[in-house]
Amino acid sequence: MNAFAYRDGYYHAQDVAIRHIADAVGTPFYCYSRAAIEARYDAFADALKDFNALICYAVKANSNQALIGLLAARGAGADVVSEGEMRRALAAGIPASKIVYSGVAKTVHEIEFALQQNIRQFNVESEQELRAISAAATRLKKTARVAFRINPNVDAGTHEKISTGKSENKFGIGIDNAKAAYDEARKLPGIEVCGVDMHIGSQIMTLNPFKAAFSRIAELTQELRDAGHTISTIDLGGGLGVNYDNLNDNAPTVNDYARVAKEAVGHLDCDIIVEPGRSLVGNAGVLVGSVIYTKTNGASKFLIIDAAMNDFLRPSMYNAYHTIVGGRQSNAPEEFYDVVGPVCETGDTFARKRKLPLQEAGDLIIIEGTGAYGSVMASSYNTRPMIPEVLVDGSEFRVIRRRPDYDSMIALDIPWGNSD
Ligand SMILES: *Cc1c(COP(=O)(O)O)cnc(C)c1O
Repeated sequence: MNAFAYRDGYYHAQDVAIRHIADAVGTPFYCYSRAAIEARYDAFADALKDFNALICYAVKANSNQALIGLLAARGAGADVVSEGEMRRALAAGIPASKIVYSGVAKTVHEIEFALQQNIRQFNVESEQELRAISAAATRLKKTARVAFRINPNVDAGTHEKISTGKSENKFGIGIDNAKAAYDEARKLPGIEVCGVDMHIGSQIMTLNPFKAAFSRIAELTQELRDAGHTISTIDLGGGLGVNYDNLNDNAPTVNDYARVAKEAVGHLDCDIIVEPGRSLVGNAGVLVGSVIYTKTNGASKFLIIDAAMNDFLRPSMYNAYHTIVGGRQSNAPEEFYDVVGPVCETGDTFARKRKLPLQEAGDLIIIEGTGAYGSVMASSYNTRPMIPEVLVDGSEFRVIRRRPDYDSMIALDIPWGNSD
């Protein structure tokens, strides 16, 4: 399904012309498609139908209440990495019984909050964290259901900043130490071991890393069971990549991903948890900006747009490639543009030497595939207000996050001298 496409020459989100939203809301803004998110969730659910599977949406990919709410209504659970995300998931209607709590270092306060909610599972990342959970559960007279996040020492073949499954990464417990960790967990009060967990990275574009990691987890599950541990749930993490380049269509499909999972862990008769983030929402959103000015410096032609790195960080942080198109189809001659924002950083560059039909001040520029790790990573650097988010459903659109005004941004500060 293609929720974002030209119709009659104008870029549309489902049945709404982007120009129409831009006139109402002002640029820049994020725009998401309800149908695209729901179709993707349904594809996942369908691919995993042979399993007893819970799809725990990784809230950190996009934590807007409206988006979490749409997924909650379809039966999704949530994978959260902080108390804030847990509160967002609960507020959007995801029951605690479908929340798994990941995260490298959960604080005592966060652990207590999760225990009070009675969440489904803690994905534990160290033995110290395990002891902190045990102590908190004992104090609160609760039982924490735990899985250890196992670091299978597999190279996810993705960008180094989003690769998490190698032994040199800070994530999880080394697979060689797993048995000792489970033996310790069995002795601790307030702890009920229920499963194993892994997550090897993000934007993974081939199935081989999943194959390797899933089979290591399957072997470990068998070893742990042989040692008398109860392993009834396998959490396979997230990480399935998406196509960011409209000229290439090479991301693995959810069906292929599910087949690999089935082959590796199907025989163990476990409940399965998956934690997709990017693959649910990444291609369900675009970032819309307007050209402020164009200019030429030497051999470079710049399109300076009103969106910037503070609104969408992936190009400057990960050198990420995203398809960029104009708001209308045009037969104008094509130019090679550097698409940049107005922030005072050379890193404020969305793309270099990108071919686009000639653009002018006021034209709309659309950066595609920005539904995941877009708005959630935004900041107000350069005192630029966080940009609004809009959700389209058929021919209707709604603002699902407002743009703050300058006064409320400035009012968060407390001038020295008024500090009483
Ligand atoms: C980030 C993260 C995910 C989601 O990753 P995607 O690449 O967005 O699917 C899942 N699980 C954990 C533990 C994570 O940290």
